Amino acid sequence: MKRYSAFAIAREAARHHTGWERAWASPAPKDRYEVIVVGAGGHGLATAYYLAKNHGIRNVAVLEKGWMGGGNTGRNTTIIRSNYLQDESAAIFEKSRSLYETLSQKLNYNIMFSPRGVLMLAQTEHELRAWKRTAHANRLAGIKSEFVSPRRIKDIVKIIETKGPRYPVLGGLWQPRGGTARHDAVAWGYARAASDLGVDIIQQCEVTGVDRDASGVTGVQTTKGAIKCAKLCIVVAGSSGVLAEMAGFRLPVESVALQALVSEPIKPVMDCVVMANTVHGYMSQSDKGELVIGGGADGYNNYTQRGSFQHIEETVRALIETFPLISRLKMLRQWGGIVDMTGDRSPIIGKTPVPGMFVNCGWGTGGFKAIPGSGWATAEMVADGAPRALAAPFSLDRFVEGRMIDESVAAAVAH
Ligand SMILES: Cc1cc2nc3c(=O)[nH]c(=O)nc-3n(C[C@H](O)[C@H](O)[C@H](O)COP(=O)(O)OP(=O)(O)OC[C@H]3O[C@@H](n4cnc5c(N)ncnc54)[C@H](O)[C@@H]3O)c2cc1C
Repeated sequence: MKRYSAFAIAREAARHHTGWERAWASPAPKDRYEVIVVGAGGHGLATAYYLAKNHGIRNVAVLEKGWMGGGNTGRNTTIIRSNYLQDESAAIFEKSRSLYETLSQKLNYNIMFSPRGVLMLAQTEHELRAWKRTAHANRLAGIKSEFVSPRRIKDIVKIIETKGPRYPVLGGLWQPRGGTARHDAVAWGYARAASDLGVDIIQQCEVTGVDRDASGVTGVQTTKGAIKCAKLCIVVAGSSGVLAEMAGFRLPVESVALQALVSEPIKPVMDCVVMANTVHGYMSQSDKGELVIGGGADGYNNYTQRGSFQHIEETVRALIETFPLISRLKMLRQWGGIVDMTGDRSPIIGKTPVPGMFVNCGWGTGGFKAIPGSGWATAEMVADGAPRALAAPFSLDRFVEGRMIDESVAAAVAH
């Protein structure tokens, strides 16, 4: 693979951009792979990349029913933070956040990581106590976050109204090295680097069945024919329940739509991410000037990968008290993704009841930030046959043993 560099741009400019290579190969599937990863979202692609890079396992295929990054990875609002309450979450999310810091250099692909800071508002007494507690827990876990006063918040976000009548801003949890990244670029960067290491990324290839015998998984049925494998890892977010059913077991996940919208572009008004969890809305400004606005998940299970009118109303109504300026903006577009929610709002990374078959899912509304750390930990598990320290707490067993990693009570929302 030719490296991207300032020199390469200058060279290509001089020869009318005729020398660029394709970023990744599009091979036909082989008959057999050592590992098949189902789902070319960020988590599946990162898993394949780290399998090849960290463990030398290159006979890997990533099968994608649509186009890579076309699921939640390309539909999210790109918030990256690691200031979670529970130790297990803090460990994997901080691993991920720290990998994001140098990911552009590692992948030789500009993922536009922007550590502009993430501010989570406290707008009730309950949240005030919760964020203070989380700030202490983060300090113990070695994660840089702090509880900040309303006055400091006004300094950080000039356009905020802290004295709203319903939900005044009482304080906030501030993670200065949280931020955003370009979501498509994360998928494309991992795909390009994985492909360069010999991973086959096969798009338009839907998995329609899981083949198994008495000893465990043997392969998959796809719209491009049967493909054999020694190990299978399903990384399909909102479709996890469907894939599990094909293999004959059930997962404790529910699939719901989560929506977001962007405003028309305006001049720069905010340079951090603000989350208002009590009213269920959050906002940042994209490089193009649009305000990127996200809301809560649907209250009922569904597979509708699109937006709905009542969500625009709900989300904008929630944010308008704290950000009055959005009342004067036009909406440019809205969309939805199918997210996979577990009861404790923590992911599942683990073995399944089928020997040789692994699962990575349950990232729900907050898995973009976890892509590098999750891929790293999932690759370890698939390579070794069992999870190592980062992933071990997130096994399926926790639902049997009642060993929940409860981030739903801790955060109320998990973007
Ligand atoms: C509106 C919205 C806002 C969000 N905001 C944030 C945020 O700000 N910060 C954050 O951290 N997270 C956020 N998230 C969550 C985040 O997007 C997801 O947790 C993350 O992208 C999941 O990545 P993934 O790779 O597991 O899944 P996906 O990106 O959904 O990839 C799964 C892939 O599997 C494929 N697939 C499914 N079934 C099959 C099959 N049978 N055969 C082959 N392929 C199949 C799908 O086509 C898809 O491409 C948000 C999500 C949404 C929808």
